[in-house]
Amino acid sequence: MATIPFVKSQRLQKLPPYLFAEIDKKKKAAIAAGRDVINLGVGDPDRPTPRPIIESLQHHVENPVFHQYALDQGAPELRRSIAAFCKARYGLDLNPETEILPLIGSKEGIAHFPLAVLNPSEISLVPDPCYPVYRSSSMFAGADVYTMPLERSLGFRPDLDAIPADVFALARLMFLNFPNNPTGGTADLDYFRKVVDLAKANDFVIAQDAAYNEMYFDKPAPSILQVPGAKDVTVEFHSLSKTFNMTGWRVGFAIGGAPLIAALAQVKANTDSGIFTAIQHAAKTALDQYDELTPPIRALYKERRDAFVGALRKLGWDVPSPEATFYVWIPCPKGYSSTDLCSRILEEADVVTTPGLGFGRTADGYIRAALTVETPRLLEAVGRIGKLSL
Ligand code: PLP
Repeated sequence: MATIPFVKSQRLQKLPPYLFAEIDKKKKAAIAAGRDVINLGVGDPDRPTPRPIIESLQHHVENPVFHQYALDQGAPELRRSIAAFCKARYGLDLNPETEILPLIGSKEGIAHFPLAVLNPSEISLVPDPCYPVYRSSSMFAGADVYTMPLERSLGFRPDLDAIPADVFALARLMFLNFPNNPTGGTADLDYFRKVVDLAKANDFVIAQDAAYNEMYFDKPAPSILQVPGAKDVTVEFHSLSKTFNMTGWRVGFAIGGAPLIAALAQVKANTDSGIFTAIQHAAKTALDQYDELTPPIRALYKERRDAFVGALRKLGWDVPSPEATFYVWIPCPKGYSSTDLCSRILEEADVVTTPGLGFGRTADGYIRAALTVETPRLLEAVGRIGKLSL
């Protein structure tokens, strides 16, 4: 009997195409040919997780109680540490029982949240460019995506006044991401206040992705929950991944109003069974030692940013210097699309960057470089790019 060929679900078929296939192929070929490739393509810290966090995991992994299923709502000790951290860092008063939810990385929470708040045919407001999960998770929930372009002239913040009233009428969710991947843009409390007012006036929920909140350089990034009354309409997603060099550990947390947190928890209770409890205790150690562990990480990226942006500017590139995140958002020279520029830099300079187009259709005029190699390698990358006539 002939087998019927497998056809992917319509929901998967609707996702935007994977744009990096060509660049991935070229990168693999360059590495296979033994070329000295400098990879600025991946947003993954190159330094190891700090020792106290590793030792905490080593200690807690020995506890057989932790080898069993974790509690869905997260270990109480971790939730209490998150509350203490949010109080010390942001002055927030959060109830660890109802307003805090540990996550298997912030990506997991971001991916599930639309299922908790969106109905089919409602609108999800999504920045462009953006971390691709906002768009795909909104689509998985059956929502229509409305794109909010991020323009350099507006500090890479969505122009809230440009969103039409009929869009607001159907909007149920707005994704924000400050400090922003990939643009490095930041928001202040005045901007957040405006968004909260709009959410209350138009009855939508805000999902603010704060994965890079602790990777700031001069001014600490605010929490949107510092806006009075924001809790009623907001969930903010935090991550330990970049803050503590813990991308592989898979731990983050959501904070916000109790009904919103409960709705997210309900989706999660039907999809996962919590985070390995030993990892939750290591995460507690990380947050408890935030004041000691994070300054050297921030100092490292600041040094790299200054070196890399400074060297590019010396070459005449008009590059914004990010106030936070470890990404540099580089405008393409005239006549280049982002994919053409990335290909050329890879083929002729053996430097991997990411085309803006991969983050959204309004971003084809930029490429993204991640500061995830040591300063001398960053300078070497700029030196090689400088030799190309672009
Ligand atoms: N949000 C943004 C903007 C990111 O860039 C990333 C990862 O690169 C994440 C969320 C997910 O981080 P994690 O799931 O490791 O917490």
